[in-house]
Amino acid sequence: MLRRLSRIACAVACSGIVVAALAAATSAASAAAPFTPGASGVGDPYFPLEGNGGYDVGHYNLDLSYDPATHQLSGAAHITARAKQDLSRFDLDLSGLTVRSVTVNSVLATFARDGQELQITRRTGLRRGSAFDVAVRYDGSPETITGSPIVFGADYGWQYTPDGAFVGDEPNAARTWFPSNDHPTDKATFTFRITVPQDRQVMANGDLVSWKSKAGKSTYVWDETSPMATYLATIDIGKWTFQHGTTPAGIPETMGYDPDLTGDVATAGIFALSGEVTDFWAKEFGPYPFTSTGAIVDNVPNVGFSLETQTRPLYGFAAGPGTVSHELAHQWFGDSVSVATWRDIWLNEGFATFCGSLWTEHTGGASTYASFLARYNQIPATSSFWNQSIADPQRDTMFSSAVYNRGGMTLAALRHRIGDYDVFRMLNRWTAQHRFGNATTTQFVALAEKVSGEDLGAFFDTWLWQKTKPTSFDGP
Ligand SMILES: [Zn+2]
Repeated sequence: MLRRLSRIACAVACSGIVVAALAAATSAASAAAPFTPGASGVGDPYFPLEGNGGYDVGHYNLDLSYDPATHQLSGAAHITARAKQDLSRFDLDLSGLTVRSVTVNSVLATFARDGQELQITRRTGLRRGSAFDVAVRYDGSPETITGSPIVFGADYGWQYTPDGAFVGDEPNAARTWFPSNDHPTDKATFTFRITVPQDRQVMANGDLVSWKSKAGKSTYVWDETSPMATYLATIDIGKWTFQHGTTPAGIPETMGYDPDLTGDVATAGIFALSGEVTDFWAKEFGPYPFTSTGAIVDNVPNVGFSLETQTRPLYGFAAGPGTVSHELAHQWFGDSVSVATWRDIWLNEGFATFCGSLWTEHTGGASTYASFLARYNQIPATSSFWNQSIADPQRDTMFSSAVYNRGGMTLAALRHRIGDYDVFRMLNRWTAQHRFGNATTTQFVALAEKVSGEDLGAFFDTWLWQKTKPTSFDGP
């Protein structure tokens, strides 16, 4: 995510009906075997209710219709998953919207709503290791999350635009438009089958596999075949002009841009820029992790951020090199290698900030060392900028300037300390070892020490954990 500096700054009543007979049957089954409910969260220290315990999602098939005139979203989410314990019940995350029915393995299940938890109970429990599928039929107008301190007060999630929708969910807004296991630790592949009025188009992650028009409606099918965290899923609806091709190195590239922005997009050259940046990062950090790259460029200047939606970053305006290089660096650092908990967010934002500086250096500007040294010298020790632990930034300040910039400085300082050979060897190893997975700050520190052969404990303690200005840019 990247804040656009120039611009910014329910409980739901239980609507499920638990049928007494089914509840009794479940209870009887529980007595016979120790089937237990899946946890209502995965235990993230910042978001205890995000994600759910007891199962692992393999694939989301979102078959949805959206009418921009009425703001109505309707359809079904088909989810395939595998039980990780003997489950008497399990939750999906879902906020707002009206659930019409839930089936598990094609049989109607009972459900209840409790805040963001959609609690699903099947007649008989699900055995550990068994594969199952869930279909949730639902409709309604997705809620835009407003005024949250988490994203510096900007609106996020499903945002209504004059011609459709702009959907950027970091960190926890996927639940506002599809039921999911909404935490980065449960990645899954996705199919988006989205129907809109015939004069609108749909952009999403992955590859456009088909589209057809019939009876005044168009249906677009996009497939994301690489594992993806829920917050990186997007469907963006509007009047898009598509541009297809490849990067100079041959990676498939697709961009959709709002035709109102034609002049700006041409000036910014986002298609060419995205191709060049993708290729350069692949050279620096290892092979591009996904099947295609590109951009979604909308014309919604009131949106306060850009987002690294997988394969295809989301911009509300004609973004320049600073933003494009940042969001595409996230394809490696954030999307392929994702945080294990949201406490590790500097592994996304510090890395992407460092990469933005690396792109500046690559294109003839200041070196990463010079850029971050200038910032280090500029910010006095008394500034609140230094009064934050980057390795544990706290939920409401997880996207602070310090997480980005002190995080970026940490990598610039590390590069200066251990040298180019080791730092790029380490970053390549990082992206290879944790490809399509999750990682922690502790694992990063251990890898840096292993690759460099140096004891870096004091260095990282100073830069990542201490709430004071390091005494020198290079640390101890
Ligand atoms: Zn970012």
